Amino acid sequence: MRILVIEDEKKVAQALKKGLESEHYDVEVAFSGEEGFFLLHSQKFDVVILDLMLPGRDGLEILTALRSKQDKTPVLILTAKDAVEDRVVGLDAGADDYVIKPFAFPELLARLRALLRRGIDGQILKLKLADLEMDVVKHTIARSGRPISLTVKEFEIIEYLLRNHGQVVTREMLAKDVWEETQRATPLNNVIDVHIARLRKKIDEPFVKKLLHTVRGVGFILTERTL
Ligand code: CA
Repeated sequence: MRILVIEDEKKVAQALKKGLESEHYDVEVAFSGEEGFFLLHSQKFDVVILDLMLPGRDGLEILTALRSKQDKTPVLILTAKDAVEDRVVGLDAGADDYVIKPFAFPELLARLRALLRRGIDGQILKLKLADLEMDVVKHTIARSGRPISLTVKEFEIIEYLLRNHGQVVTREMLAKDVWEETQRATPLNNVIDVHIARLRKKIDEPFVKKLLHTVRGVGFILTERTL
């Protein structure tokens, strides 16, 4: 998951970047409205953390410009404690949620996760990582334009990994969210590993660039980064 942080306070921005990276998000930081605006126009992000008080082009201008070109990337705004009206204006301008400064990092993380889960318009219809593309509605997946045939379970796993790409997905998460197993994951571990191995064969084996990696002792990660 790629996150753009637009925040001119260097300390806050850097703390956010560090914290989010330790949660395995890919983070870009823009220290000014101009820079943020440029990045939003030239790259794709899964979510934007936007400070409203920025020198030059402020947060509200960026948000308004983004929404006016029908860009529905989820936006979480950061507002000062005493700026209640900013919050209202921000939400009216198309922000998806807000966090009040100074904020506790776990709170921000929780809001962020909720946004990412909900996705655009409550539903992400197309998922993409590098040349791997999934159409959730048509239930198709392709790599480099070549359709890949998956079983129902394999499709569910790769969809889950794609929705959480860049983050480590544990066997427990797969057991709970894909198998909907409320018990502990241990009895499922072998089953999960077999499915992952099959998936890897279909998704990665024919291609030079590997996307699905095992994080020893923890789980799996779908990422473009070389681990
Ligand atoms: Ca600021």
